[in-house]
Amino acid sequence: MTKKVANDLNLVPFVSVDNMMKIVLEIGIEEVLIGIANYLEVDFKRWELFDKTPRVASHSNEGVIELMPTSDGQVYGFKYVNGHPKNTKDGLQTVTAFGVLSDVETGYPVMLSEMTILTALRTAATSAMAAKYLMPKKSKMMAMIGNGAQSEFQALAFKAICGIDELRLYDIDGEATDRCMKNLTGFGINMVKCSSEQIAVEGADIITTVTADKQCATILTDNMVGSGVHINAIGGDCPGKTELHRDILLRSEIFVEYPPQTRIEGEIQQLDDDYPVTELWQVMTGKAEGRTNEKQITLFDSVGFAIEDFSALRYIRDQLEKTKQFQNLDMVADPDEPRDLFGMVLRAKEAK
Ligand code: NAD
Repeated sequence: MTKKVANDLNLVPFVSVDNMMKIVLEIGIEEVLIGIANYLEVDFKRWELFDKTPRVASHSNEGVIELMPTSDGQVYGFKYVNGHPKNTKDGLQTVTAFGVLSDVETGYPVMLSEMTILTALRTAATSAMAAKYLMPKKSKMMAMIGNGAQSEFQALAFKAICGIDELRLYDIDGEATDRCMKNLTGFGINMVKCSSEQIAVEGADIITTVTADKQCATILTDNMVGSGVHINAIGGDCPGKTELHRDILLRSEIFVEYPPQTRIEGEIQQLDDDYPVTELWQVMTGKAEGRTNEKQITLFDSVGFAIEDFSALRYIRDQLEKTKQFQNLDMVADPDEPRDLFGMVLRAKEAK
């Protein structure tokens, strides 16, 4: 049975937003990003044993709500997540999420957690883990187009995991760049605010695109991408929502999480269904080649896959005993006699 944090099986530890912030601050953000990346490595290297399915998406004009389930046979996990690019205009987040881990043997939930912050952490850790395998050697400089909620997490993961210490930032909203730079002050990254995407990508070893727009946008055109660059494309993660010009894809070696999902949601929705791509887990296990020369353009076409949330939830669960950052939720009905559920309801009236 899965390791439990609470003693009573009916009590489920719940990690609130406040708990998550305290965990991150207590452990340290870069340590957390490295920790999640280590859990990701373990799970990507046992990729084949997981239940895998493209996420279940419910689309509307304004956004999407998705369920992302997976299981390794012992532990089951799922995330509820939305993506609503127009939300920020109303003071709301583009992406919010929560998730659950359960014990496969009993089906009982073992942890419920906020995942808005955790998604930003796991997305950044996944990006940096992929880049570790694909980026040019001795990469130091990253361009980051889109400086919203995900951006600082991305920057710090690339610093902690890939050694990036120079950042060139661009956002159509200059205030987003200012806020991002202010938040990253003191973390040991040299930052330059750029006036266009074109200027931001000049001299960069890695280009991260992390914009939000519910359309097929062209954040990067072909002429902006020089040979040898690694592209970490985060924001194209829905049907009809991409960031890169198709010609860039045709010049790149493309790496993805789970092809059946990425072909629907990623940059490669612009290509034929049988266009060759490489699964990241295969590179990590030595089953496929990553970057093969310094001139190659490598592209991580990230859409976010359920196993990444599973790894992040496992990491957080393993921090609970030490940090005590959770509350027990009375979430599972637990009559003394399992079949006397109704009797338990009646006895609650007597107890009043
Ligand atoms: P956000 O709304 O907080 O930030 C997006 C930023 O992009 C904003 O500051 C906006 O001004 C900027 N922007 C929009 N169009 C631009 C353009 N043409 N050029 C430059 N900047 C532009 O959103 P967020 O939470 O940071 O998420 C960013 C994107 O990442 C979203 O599309 C989201 O769906 C995606 N995402 C992907 C994953 C994944 O696993 N791949 C995970 C989380 C979020």
